[in-house]
Amino acid sequence: MEDFRIGNGYDVHALAPGLTLMLGGVKIESPVGCIAHSDGDVAIHALCDALLGALALGDIGKHFPDSSDEFRGIDSKILLSGTMDLVKGQGYAVGNADITIALQAPKLAPYIQTMRETLAGIMGVSVSAVSVKATTTERLGFVGRGEGCEVYAVALLYRDSR
Ligand code: MG
Repeated sequence: MEDFRIGNGYDVHALAPGLTLMLGGVKIESPVGCIAHSDGDVAIHALCDALLGALALGDIGKHFPDSSDEFRGIDSKILLSGTMDLVKGQGYAVGNADITIALQAPKLAPYIQTMRETLAGIMGVSVSAVSVKATTTERLGFVGRGEGCEVYAVALLYRDSR
């Protein structure tokens, strides 16, 4: 296998009132949350897909099917941890990851650092290797109308010779 592998991930969840909003492993104060089989952490789902994509291992739905009771309401941090087991099992480690969360509201700035620390801890990398960015879509499209949250993620893996 190559020394370096790159992957991208993308995920969307619909938002609905009264649900818990989890993003990047952090609970966000919000009147709406993601509709999901798991805890709906769309940021972690996109990140997992980037990590799996880097190694051409399919996607999160293949490894943690949403048809399975085992994963109903599951903390997505457990899915990221499981994904990292697959990455390590292939002999790779995370070089860095970059995540962009598109959400009209609420503002995510107060949570970004905690998300970075949480994700870095699970992936076993320094916080400086994990970027989390948030944007609105200027009220355009389904994100702008507050109907959903959309996340893009990119991850670089390197072959870990330790
Ligand atoms: Mg998802």
